[in-house]
Amino acid sequence: MNEFSWRARSAVHAEMARERLDVLIIGGGITGAGLVLDAATRGLRVALVEKRDFAAGTSSRSTKLIHGGLRYLEHFDFALVREGLSERAILSRIAPHLVKPFPFLVPIYTQRGRNYDRPLKIRAGLWLYDLLAGRESFGRHRRLTREQALELAPQLDTKGLRGALLYYDALTDDSRLVIEVLKSAHALGALVVNYTRLVGLLHEANGELIGGRVSDELTGREFEVRARVIVNATGVWTDEVRALSGQIETAGKRVRPSKGVHLMLAADRLRVMSAWLIPSLTGHRFYFVVPWEGRVLVGTTDTDYAGDKEAPHAEAGEVREILGAINSYFPEARLESSDVIATFAGLRPLLSDGKKSTTAVSREEEIIQGRDGMISIAGGKLTTYRRMAERTIDLAAARLNEKFDRNGIGRSRTATVALDGGRLSRAELEDEIERMAKSEGLTREVLEHLAHSYGSDFGRVVTLAREDEQLRGRLVEGLPHIAAEIVYAVRNEWR
Ligand code: FAD
Repeated sequence: MNEFSWRARSAVHAEMARERLDVLIIGGGITGAGLVLDAATRGLRVALVEKRDFAAGTSSRSTKLIHGGLRYLEHFDFALVREGLSERAILSRIAPHLVKPFPFLVPIYTQRGRNYDRPLKIRAGLWLYDLLAGRESFGRHRRLTREQALELAPQLDTKGLRGALLYYDALTDDSRLVIEVLKSAHALGALVVNYTRLVGLLHEANGELIGGRVSDELTGREFEVRARVIVNATGVWTDEVRALSGQIETAGKRVRPSKGVHLMLAADRLRVMSAWLIPSLTGHRFYFVVPWEGRVLVGTTDTDYAGDKEAPHAEAGEVREILGAINSYFPEARLESSDVIATFAGLRPLLSDGKKSTTAVSREEEIIQGRDGMISIAGGKLTTYRRMAERTIDLAAARLNEKFDRNGIGRSRTATVALDGGRLSRAELEDEIERMAKSEGLTREVLEHLAHSYGSDFGRVVTLAREDEQLRGRLVEGLPHIAAEIVYAVRNEWR
């Protein structure tokens, strides 16, 4: 088997050009990654091409939550919330290092003027959230006193503060999740390659899709890849790929990118010991405040977007809007633009007929089958990537059975197969951290970061650091990331 590294690039290209694949996946975000893993677990011959780095699109720009989505209850999207909660439980079993159960709080005030602030409404939502999670709940919600709330966020506005409601969801590292899903697919024999762009589609004379033309983005060389089924998982680029085969009907649904902006703040500027869900005072919107990787992540907005899809970025007005909302709840923090260490923006690949606002368009995925046989999947959430993949590959398998007599294709096994770094439970990881803290000369903080990023593979990064003193150096002062991670990424993760 090829290594999971750029060193295998020419070999992977050669194999793709030589064989007739069962399935070719376009797009290396979480949706494409989930698809290639699902197909590989069923024993299908499958390949994935990504035009940039893996997870370079929306899948590295999320709020980093693995959640049912409390706010979707407002739209009565109960099935979506239930599915998110059930996937949250599955992911916490197959990738315990990357899915970290975490407390979230909603502040309760006597008079803020918004219906969100009515404790009864929020409590009813949380009660339903617990009910939908059922036995897979991470812990039931409860009420905190004003004093308890202030202990967890000392800068919270005290005027009219009555307390807070606490519930549980999970945090993740979105781009690492993509890499680990891809690595797991590779371990099962899938061909996975980045900087390889789909530039054209190949059709039979009868109009049936038989493959694609791809371009090696590093050399400019183009070659053909034959596949029985092609799945388009290109997020906000879905329509561009559909257009390659003239598939977009004038009346059908189109991708409607919705932009979300996040800000990164220093942990001592916004002091929070848990995550917070903050209802905006000016509209029906929530902001998240999330302690993440030694910083605090704040976001997000949700606005229609028509700019450059390759490089969405935060505008000054958006930064002001988010800071204003956060300052209204955490006035003592007195956040200013100069406090913002970094910003990032992502585009939700929502599919819409153009009638509703972006906040009202469902987050449920849409699967579209083109006349030539191409399957496109867009929308959905990071959290539900596994179920999205299962549904889509079920369709692909049905097509393979029907057209190519490929009976005997198994069912999806992704609910029970641990991801690449998911072979140790959380308790076993803790034991490993404990053991290494005594012997490896790395701080507990660094070891915890490595364990939660690489899971059962974290010893491989520690070994690199052990062998070369320089690789123990921190990449950014005050943060636990070390130089060994760069060497590891280049050697083992297609960077
Ligand atoms: P992408 O990640 O964009 O992947 C598509 C890929 O296709 C790209 O990498 C692109 O380079 C590639 N591509 C495009 N054209 C071609 C081509 N011709 N050839 C080869 N490759 C091509 N979900 C959650 O569950 N939890 C959250 O907290 C959360 N927060 C979010 C916050 C924001 C601001 C946004 C925008 C979304 C959030 N989501 C969240 C939703 C989630 O992030 C997205 O649904 C998901 O990342 C979409 O993944 P994708 O693979 O479909 O798209």
